[in-house]
Amino acid sequence: MSAKAPTKTPALTDFRRIVIKVGSSLLVDSAAGRVKESWLASLADDIARLHKGKRDVMVVSSGSIALGRSVLKLPRGVLKLEDSQAAAAVGQIALARTWSEVLGRHDITASQILVTLDDTEERRRYLNARSTIDKLLEWRSVPVINENDTVATSEIRYGDNDRLAARVATMVSADLLVLLSDIDGLYDAPPANNPNARHIPLVPRIGAEIEAMAGDAASDHSRGGMRTKVEAGKIATTAGTHMVIASGHVDHPLKSIESGARATWFLASGNPVTSRKRWIAGSLEPKGTLTIDAGAASALRSGKSLLPAGVIRVDGNFGRGDAVVIRGPDGAEIGRGLVAYDAGDAAKIMRKSSSDILLILGIEGRAEMVHRDDLVLGGA
Ligand code: GLU
Repeated sequence: MSAKAPTKTPALTDFRRIVIKVGSSLLVDSAAGRVKESWLASLADDIARLHKGKRDVMVVSSGSIALGRSVLKLPRGVLKLEDSQAAAAVGQIALARTWSEVLGRHDITASQILVTLDDTEERRRYLNARSTIDKLLEWRSVPVINENDTVATSEIRYGDNDRLAARVATMVSADLLVLLSDIDGLYDAPPANNPNARHIPLVPRIGAEIEAMAGDAASDHSRGGMRTKVEAGKIATTAGTHMVIASGHVDHPLKSIESGARATWFLASGNPVTSRKRWIAGSLEPKGTLTIDAGAASALRSGKSLLPAGVIRVDGNFGRGDAVVIRGPDGAEIGRGLVAYDAGDAAKIMRKSSSDILLILGIEGRAEMVHRDDLVLGGA
């Protein structure tokens, strides 16, 4: 984006690469069992306007399960995992066709990308997915992205498209993520049961206070409540991507953001991390935890690597190169990093001087437990 930070209502055209996340309940009319055509057409108009203005646009679209259950006429209520996966297989075809049609009316070529958690968590697959999306954008296609619900088992699924969208946005270095939602932003209390709830228009930084506001509102279709949205905000803003949550319950929802409709803007951190660090910071599945002493914590904060001597506790069953959470002596998260030793070796060399590594492990390992190039302070 341009150097200027967004004010309350920045123009979306200030941004160069925009990811728009659309929730199932906006897209699918569950009573009628079909896509909300006219609303979608109005969103496609807005997307086309950005696209014509030379912006790169991507859509993260939910709706495969909701559409599949309508097509299959499945009863209301919570679906079992295998039922929702099979419903997604039916619904995803309809979803892709719908997007291809609405964008096609504006001479925009839609493309479909289905990802699983592994595609964003494993570095090689991450790089591959990123270069495919880059190529599609270069061809001026609008990629339409969803989780590959049919194959993603419970351990390897995002389960919500808020965090998926944030990971995709940071993966492609988008400068804006728009979450079109049931609700027009963040409130200091759940507005449904609190008439005095105050709307928060701007979040310069996501701290404990903001996290505490993220209740657990969920609608019929969507999995993500405000909590997953704030988590998405953390992933996005740490990596240098601004995020806005706005209501999708209006026609032309993007235009409406620009005309100053109520929304919550989360500002990207002033010092965006590099792409490798962005990947580490956003890692959703750290495999373990290193607890470190106060001396090591201040060394990390002054830009140093984490040495084995500063580690006082090792938890989890991680391998070499896995992402781990680093906690201070009080248990608070200090950062995340890629660890140079597996959990067993890490436990053997913790509290020890790096010069003893050869003696203890019988191999000449790295002097650092987590090298500073592999370390991101502040957590995801
Ligand atoms: N991937 C799911 C679907 O397309 C939606 C997940 C969500 O609603 O966040 O149905």
